[in-house]
Amino acid sequence: MNKFSWYDAASLDAAQKEVNATVSETLQPGTADDAVVYKAAGIDLLDLMKEGLSRPSKLVGIKNLPGLDKLAFDSEAGMMLGANLTLARMAENSAIKENYTALHQAASQTATPHVRNMATLGGNLAQRTRCWYFRAIEHHCFRKGSTTCFAHTGENENHAILGYGYCVSVHASSLATVLTAFDAMVEIRTAQQALKVVPMKDFFVLPTVDRTRETILEAGELIEKILLPAPGKNTLSHYLKTGSRKSQDWPMAEVAVVAELSGKKCRKATIVLGAAAPVPFVSEAAMDAIRDKVINESTATAAAKAAMQNAVPLSQNAYKITVFETLIKRALLELVA
Ligand SMILES: Cc1cc2nc3c(=O)[nH]c(=O)nc-3n(C[C@H](O)[C@H](O)[C@H](O)COP(=O)(O)OP(=O)(O)OC[C@H]3O[C@@H](n4cnc5c(N)ncnc54)[C@H](O)[C@@H]3O)c2cc1C
Repeated sequence: MNKFSWYDAASLDAAQKEVNATVSETLQPGTADDAVVYKAAGIDLLDLMKEGLSRPSKLVGIKNLPGLDKLAFDSEAGMMLGANLTLARMAENSAIKENYTALHQAASQTATPHVRNMATLGGNLAQRTRCWYFRAIEHHCFRKGSTTCFAHTGENENHAILGYGYCVSVHASSLATVLTAFDAMVEIRTAQQALKVVPMKDFFVLPTVDRTRETILEAGELIEKILLPAPGKNTLSHYLKTGSRKSQDWPMAEVAVVAELSGKKCRKATIVLGAAAPVPFVSEAAMDAIRDKVINESTATAAAKAAMQNAVPLSQNAYKITVFETLIKRALLELVA
């Protein structure tokens, strides 16, 4: 790990002043010698630094910023989640459990109890892909600026089956999958202290647009909070994931469904797949297939098949099609059970 200096910020202003004083090309650790980066709990950031993938000369600690770990709920205004909320606090919060069930399910199943006690929402959203070629310093992969995506023809069982270009990595954030399904907004404080609010679905950047970054965050920008719309009337949500291990690992496939129901009839639904594509994948095909249908074995199967109709598996991950079909079908059936 490279040498770095440490600044433990006591206020948002101080954190951003410190970052702005050390101008950085990018806040995304990974490929460059980033001059300065924010550190929340540091779980992903320190991994990247230990592996030599990020070499910042300064870390600005934001974990103790007052107010950044707030959570507020109002049945008409919706929910506000501060970026420094730990996954554990989100998992145990009763307003989340009652009104945004899929978020409760994702927060309580992500990683391990130890990780959830430390990991923050902001850090979870801005963590980098788990593609093993990206994570290994030995591989100068496409995302790091070379012309080769090693996973394309190499070991690709955990990689994308939908919506990818040459880079076949999948995004790592389970919470992003669910928050996209809830139509959440990300409130970002820019380096100039202005507020920018972007839909969660636009927060991630496809490698076909810019392979060196995974989110829209620019230098000095800080995620301040996530805003969820008020829970819709007769709206239920459900999240399912599966992986090679029940805990301790990122999912090989995950699904979040948010649906407005009339009895068992689905008036409309948002269905988002995680670990399927380089960004959370909103499955319009599945949503169209289930809209205005009574959810049962046959319609849930049809929606699951529709979701996978454009999947293009790589040499080692065709199994993901069956896994996603099963998860989508189960998620819809369990939603109305
Ligand atoms: C064994 C294990 C299993 C895991 N399983 C899962 C899983 O199943 N699903 C899943 O989603 N995750 C999983 N994780 C990842 C874990 O959830 C993240 O590493 C963690 O949430 C990162 O949070 P942090 O506070 O440590 O972020 P940090 O490591 O501090 O930061 C990560 C990145 O985010 C940036 N950042 C942090 N906060 C902000 C902010 N407010 N504004 C702007 N940039 C910011 C940092 O600069 C850095 O680039 C797992 C981790 C481990 C170790």
